[in-house]
Amino acid sequence: MTHPQRDVPDSPRDLVGIGIGPCNLSLAALAHPLAELDAVFYEQRPGFDWHPGLLIDGATIQVPFLADLVTLVDPTSPWSFLSYLRTRGRLFPFYFAERFHIQRAEYDAYCRWVAEALPGLRFRHQVDAVRWNPERDVFEVDHTQLDADGEAEALGRTYTRNIVLGVGTAPYVPDPLRPLVDAPGVPVVHAADYLAHRDSVLAAGHVTVVGSGQSGAEIFLDLLRHRPPGREKLHWIGRTEAFAPMEYSKLGLEHFTPDYTRYFHALTEPVRDRLVTAQWQLHKGIDAGTLAAIHDELYRRTLHGGWPDAVLIPGVRVRTAGRIAATKIELHLEHLQQDSRSRLTTDAVVLATGYRERPLGRLLAGLDPYVRRDSRERPRVDEEFRLVLDPSVTGSVYVQNAELHTHGVGAPDLGLAAWRSATILNSLTGKEPYPLPTRTAFTTFGLDDPAERVPSARQPKRLTPLVDGR
Ligand SMILES: Cc1cc2nc3c(=O)[nH]c(=O)nc-3n(C[C@H](O)[C@H](O)[C@H](O)COP(=O)(O)OP(=O)(O)OC[C@H]3O[C@@H](n4cnc5c(N)ncnc54)[C@H](O)[C@@H]3O)c2cc1C
Repeated sequence: MTHPQRDVPDSPRDLVGIGIGPCNLSLAALAHPLAELDAVFYEQRPGFDWHPGLLIDGATIQVPFLADLVTLVDPTSPWSFLSYLRTRGRLFPFYFAERFHIQRAEYDAYCRWVAEALPGLRFRHQVDAVRWNPERDVFEVDHTQLDADGEAEALGRTYTRNIVLGVGTAPYVPDPLRPLVDAPGVPVVHAADYLAHRDSVLAAGHVTVVGSGQSGAEIFLDLLRHRPPGREKLHWIGRTEAFAPMEYSKLGLEHFTPDYTRYFHALTEPVRDRLVTAQWQLHKGIDAGTLAAIHDELYRRTLHGGWPDAVLIPGVRVRTAGRIAATKIELHLEHLQQDSRSRLTTDAVVLATGYRERPLGRLLAGLDPYVRRDSRERPRVDEEFRLVLDPSVTGSVYVQNAELHTHGVGAPDLGLAAWRSATILNSLTGKEPYPLPTRTAFTTFGLDDPAERVPSARQPKRLTPLVDGR
């Protein structure tokens, strides 16, 4: 490929968003009415596509429909889920459906509707590098335009005063299982690609699902429902001590509020790290409805006598794994409480082993000298979701869903996406286009009285007021 000249527009943008998942789509939707804000968003994929491998029939999102892209900060926005239903003429059916939790496929369709209508979104644009240009006092964002086959078509560079990183998470495969993933023959797929490989997994003689989170539960249930009764030949194994429900009590859910996020951010680093680990059931458990559906299906399969051939073992980790001939896999298991070991031979493995925040290292390598880090070399993020950078950098880099270590379990939560986007837009503009509530929970987190808490006197970082929009 010849290196065509980088397409370099002259004047810098106010904002470049990197990645268009729900978080940056929320930001784009809330930025849209701010006419003075010159923003563009880049996404490497050809279009908005929300976890396509897990749009299992009937699977719902784990937050109420009010946790759409905009409503929790601006219920009058034209980009709300209810507006979408209205344009689709489906408000009355939804009204009578009385569903607080919509299907994942419907959430994806709603986001696609927003993504296809909003200006300033550039799909098939992969961002390759970000660096600071001290001469021009702007960031440089290098990107590659991809063709329909995902091949590089054109190179571009955009100058901008501010950046919002919304690159989300990537499927995670534990080391012992990694060697299995790419080897041909026996289907070994991460849950993120489940639907693309569902037929070959369903056709396998024996299937093992590894991972006791929501994805693992949904896939186990889908397989259980579609395997012949009495000949299910299914194993479901997970490291957690139980196939435990996600915390969903109303007071427990107050951990997903701005109040808790502010409280968490003000804690010390060691306390934050301890809490993230301890709070696994807030974001890693299984929806109670899915657990009930699994038990119902297992019970239904005992009606005519016998027990389903489905083995559910918690408290087990895969020590190593290997292939037997070309058609089978052997998992070497260790029971964490019994300290016992065994081997499991299977014909297909679904790795429901979760996701990790996409590493920012490569993307931000150019900014490295300016990034302030914590004791574990993680970028420090301030309360307004801004990377803490050397003061010589006059622009800002904000993050969305890359701040679990500084803001807590709410980082990946769709319910906080609109509030975080509004917080970023208020900070970025130095104004308050979105007035935000000072109190959002009945629980008082910390000993200081929330009623005394007043919005911090926001001092935008050396930003010239946006008078003429440039
Ligand atoms: C199966 C599943 C179901 C979930 N369900 C819920 C739920 O019901 N409720 C809830 O609160 N949370 C849920 N979550 C958690 C979380 O809300 C989602 O992961 C959500 O997709 C996060 O949105 P995001 O925008 O941060 O990231 P993502 O959706 O991961 O989007 C990031 C985007 O950035 C793009 N990108 C990355 N790098 C680049 C680059 N260099 N250049 C250009 N583009 C780039 C990627 O292609 C991707 O499209 C779920 C997560 C999963 C995996």
